[in-house]
Amino acid sequence: MDYQGFFRRQIDGLHREGRYRVFADLERKAGAFPRAAHHGQGPGEVTVWCSNDYLGMGQHPVVLDAVHEALDRCGAGAGGTRNIGGTNHYHVLLERELAALHGTEAALLFNSGFMSNWASLSTLAGRMPGCVVLSDALNHASMIEGIRQSRAERRIWAHNDVENLAKQLADLDPDRPKLIAFESVYSMDGDIAPIKEICDVADQYGAMTYLDEVHAVGLYGPTGAGIAEREGLAHRLTVIEGTLAKAFGTMGGYIAGSAAMCDFVRSFATGFIFTTSLPPHVAAGALASIRHLRGSNAERQRMHERVATVRRRLDAMGVPHLPNPSHIVPVMVGDPVACKRISDVLLEDWGIYVQPINYPTVPRGTERLRITPSPAHTDADIDHLMNALGTIWGALDLKRAA
Ligand SMILES: *Cc1c(COP(=O)(O)O)cnc(C)c1O
Repeated sequence: MDYQGFFRRQIDGLHREGRYRVFADLERKAGAFPRAAHHGQGPGEVTVWCSNDYLGMGQHPVVLDAVHEALDRCGAGAGGTRNIGGTNHYHVLLERELAALHGTEAALLFNSGFMSNWASLSTLAGRMPGCVVLSDALNHASMIEGIRQSRAERRIWAHNDVENLAKQLADLDPDRPKLIAFESVYSMDGDIAPIKEICDVADQYGAMTYLDEVHAVGLYGPTGAGIAEREGLAHRLTVIEGTLAKAFGTMGGYIAGSAAMCDFVRSFATGFIFTTSLPPHVAAGALASIRHLRGSNAERQRMHERVATVRRRLDAMGVPHLPNPSHIVPVMVGDPVACKRISDVLLEDWGIYVQPINYPTVPRGTERLRITPSPAHTDADIDHLMNALGTIWGALDLKRAA
C-alpha cells in the first residue's frame, strides 16, 4: 500500500472539487477588533467579517483583566483532570454562574462546545438502556458524533419539522427512553427552531430534550441565556448546551440542567473525566464575560442593529442572502469555486476576510459567505464591504436577487 500516495490522492480530490481548505494566517489585534494582521497575499491588515466572537468579548477589558489576574494568581495550566487536582475554584464559580444564567440546578464544564455535545450525548443516550435519539437533520457534527458514539438507535427528523418529529415519536414504543436533539439558532442558515412546539411533543411522548444554544448564548434573551430564555422556555428543556468560545469570546463548552443529570454526565462521560480541565485564566475570562453580558444589553442591541443594516444594504444592491431571524447573514453563492474566488478577491484586493463555506459544512449547491456583523463594525466598515461585494458581483457577473 502506497500510504503517502493515498493521502495525496484524497487531497487532490478536494482540490478538484474546489473545496480544499486554506486557513487564513491571522493575528487578532486586541483593542482593534474586528481588525487582524494577515500573513499572506494581500494587505497586512484585514477586517474580519466572519468571526464567531460575535460581540468582540474576546478583547473586552473586563475579560482581559480577569484573565490577567487569574493568570498571575494561578499560572498557566490547570494541573490535572477535574478529578485529580485540576478543579480550580474558577471552574466551580463558572459552573455556578452557568447554572444561574440558565436558571438550572446545575451546570457542567467541558473543554469545548464540541466536547460537551460529543461527551454528553454519547453518555446520556449510550448509558440509558433502549434509548432512541431523535436528531434534527441539520444538527452539528459534534452532536452527530456524540450520537454515533452512543451506539443508540438514531432517527433523523426533517429539519425544524415538528410534524415529522411527532410522527416518528408516535411510531416508537411508548416505554422506550427518548432523547430529542436539536439546536436553537442553526449556524449556517441562521434559522431558529420552534422550541415550544418541540417541547410540547416531547412532553406528549415522554421524551427528553437536548438543545444546543451555541449560536444563541450571549446574544439572545434579556440576560443573554439564549433563545430558550427569550421565549420563557428554559425550564422545559432537559439539557441546554452552550459554548464559551463564541459570543462569550473565550473557550470551553457546557451543559446545564438538573443536578442529577449533570452529576450523571460528570460521573460517566469519558470526554469529561479523562482530560485536563481548562486553564484557570480561561475559566476566569469566561466567568467575567458571562457576568458582563448578563447585566449589559448594549453589545447585543448594537450587534442586532449592525445585522439589520448589513441586510438592508445587501438588499439594496441585490446581493442574495438567506432571510432568517438571527444575526447570521449567509450570502449565497451556490458554487464552491466561485465562493472561494470571491473570498480570495475580498481578502487580497479589499482587505476583507470572509471564509468561504463549502461542502460538507453546507450541502453542495448552497456554498456561501457567512457574514457575522458585530457591534465593532463601523459604518465605514459596512460601506467598504458593500463597495467590495458590489464590485465583485459586477466583475464576476454573479446572480442578483430580485
Ligand atoms: C461551534 C459549534 C459547536 C462547538 O463549539 P466549540 O466551542 O467551538 O467547540 C457546537 N455546536 C454548534 C452548533 C456549533 O456551531
